[in-house]
Amino acid sequence: MKSFENQTETSPIPTQSQTAFAVQTQTAASAQTKTQNQTEQDRSQASEMVTDRTNVKPKEQANELLFLTPIFHEKIWGGRDLETNFGYTVPDGPVGECWAISAHPNGDCIIANGPYKGMRLSEVWKKASQLFVNPQGAESVSTEELALQHQKEPFPLLVKIIDAHEKLSIQVHPDDAYAAKHENGSLGKRECWYILAAEPGSTIIVGQKTHSKEEFQRLMEAGAWHEILNEIPLAAGDFFQIDPGTVHAIKGGTMVLETQQSSDVTYRLYDYDRVDAEGKKRPLHIQQSLETIDFAAPIPTTAHPDLSKPGLHLLEKNETYTVYHLSLSEADSEKNAFVVHNEHPFLCLSVIEGEGIMTAKEETVAIKKGDHFICPGLVEELSFSGAMQLIISHP
Ligand code: ZN
Repeated sequence: MKSFENQTETSPIPTQSQTAFAVQTQTAASAQTKTQNQTEQDRSQASEMVTDRTNVKPKEQANELLFLTPIFHEKIWGGRDLETNFGYTVPDGPVGECWAISAHPNGDCIIANGPYKGMRLSEVWKKASQLFVNPQGAESVSTEELALQHQKEPFPLLVKIIDAHEKLSIQVHPDDAYAAKHENGSLGKRECWYILAAEPGSTIIVGQKTHSKEEFQRLMEAGAWHEILNEIPLAAGDFFQIDPGTVHAIKGGTMVLETQQSSDVTYRLYDYDRVDAEGKKRPLHIQQSLETIDFAAPIPTTAHPDLSKPGLHLLEKNETYTVYHLSLSEADSEKNAFVVHNEHPFLCLSVIEGEGIMTAKEETVAIKKGDHFICPGLVEELSFSGAMQLIISHP
């Protein structure tokens, strides 16, 4: 096994071009093959890492990883599935969003374990920036430079679980340039959805069918939303990439794991004339929406990734984030733990199904559905055993 003892605080930061784990831009199918080969090579190492099942710690006692306490947001369209399906203790009323991994000021998660317990993620990002240095990186950056960089550039990703009991507004998000100019220097919002659950017959709105602002506006004013919107069926396990400028709406009866930029800028086009408990409508942002919609963009497609085989499946890779689905079966991981190599400043991990154990730097921790954690760059390897599914992302 590799030694991590010699890592100094001036270790390099990986660049965007670094490879992701053992796999990079393959399709889910080829990534699977590569990953299996990788697992073969790592066999001795892996079995060495998972021998001690008697020493499994609860996550509260873990020291190497940052487990986060989710933050819940009431929404007009929310439900109770975050309690009934995921087992969270949630506030009363319609709860729409669980901000599971977030350092955004509108929901800055608290660390639940280890030396940083009680701190907000944004604080750890700024004050313990050396945690997010991966020794695999090529460039050397001093601790001071890195701290300064983290002051200026916030933690870039946000992971949410959405319980859409009712439909969300028809909306669009700006890109980085528009948000920086019009939204106080905020990041834009690129997002993607892994569908956790969908009632039979559910649909989703992704993209719009007009070709110009004028055409869009004319149909919108006529209330002809069905002529504008691209509405398609969906099922659990589907995956959608939503670029800035894409009109979209999650509809009722759907649960989604969303990986997105750390941004809370939404422009609402239409909210079905709904009112809240006080009888108030939520504001619309027609002007900003019309300036933001990308009328030339092709309609996004659904991905139906084949996740039936165990292993790591690439769901999406773009300039902002890379997202994987990791699927493990008990039978498979009994023989060998599944090893994920980290070559990034950090990984965001969410257990979306099942339970198991995970080893990071000699420390073995029990994890289960509903757990969300960050693997800092300093932790170069994670090994997993159990019957579970995770969504994993990195910048
Ligand atoms: Zn959105």
